[in-house]
Amino acid sequence: RLPVPEAPQEVRELSQEFNRLLHSLNEQVIRDNQFVSDASHELRTPLTAIRGHVALLRRHGTEHPELIPDSLAVIDDESMKMQKLIESLLALSRMDHAEVQVAAFDVAGLARRVVSRFQPQSKQNLKVVMPRRLMVLANAESVEHALLSLLSNANKYVPANTIVTISGQPVGDHVELSVADLGPGIPDSEKARVFDRFFRLDESRSKAISGTGLGLAITRRLITLSGGSIRVVDNQPQGSRFMINLKAPVSESL
Ligand code: ADP
Repeated sequence: RLPVPEAPQEVRELSQEFNRLLHSLNEQVIRDNQFVSDASHELRTPLTAIRGHVALLRRHGTEHPELIPDSLAVIDDESMKMQKLIESLLALSRMDHAEVQVAAFDVAGLARRVVSRFQPQSKQNLKVVMPRRLMVLANAESVEHALLSLLSNANKYVPANTIVTISGQPVGDHVELSVADLGPGIPDSEKARVFDRFFRLDESRSKAISGTGLGLAITRRLITLSGGSIRVVDNQPQGSRFMINLKAPVSESL
């Protein structure tokens, strides 16, 4: 029998590369499938409530008009939830292929503007602890969105009249921003998962605090598109501290 000639090096490398591509394509398809199925599941819950109340009103609304206001309130709430969910899903999918422009800007100024805009609707006392000027290399809109979304989470999950501190400082060739609250905190086992799409702590669900579980996934996406990273650690003496790491501009002449 003739020996099978060994494939030339280039062919072997090409076929390995091809296999790797196929593998990552497969993983992408699995992830997309999971996303579509999670999204449908999340949309189905409010839709079921809406349809239930429509059916109730159809059947009993005429004889029992006293049912109408409550049912309408549920329909209104649940359709609002669906609208928020759809908007967040669209925001996420737009970001899938997005590229954002990064530029140098003063994040201390941005944080002060965000705080003065958000303070009137916040239950907490917002405090900014930053140098007068702190330059970063990122997308300003993304960082603004991220800060607003962390402040609005604090507003939902943290007791009123506590202090929420936004701080920032240079660390090596990076800048570290943090949003620290004095709320219930996030258990170690869930610290990475809170950034996953649709993930919510059971406590938030059981206390019926409204949310989609997409806020932190969007925030993480925005920060990574900006070339940064985000994580959450325990705050001292209690609560959570969301830490955002951003690049600092190279030249210190700024
Ligand atoms: P949503 O607020 O819509 O549920 P997020 O992605 O913004 O979605 O947050 C995911 C989960 O992380 C929340 O449901 C909540 O359980 C938890 N979480 C977020 N921020 C805080 C916080 N500051 N303190 C405690 N838990 C938080």
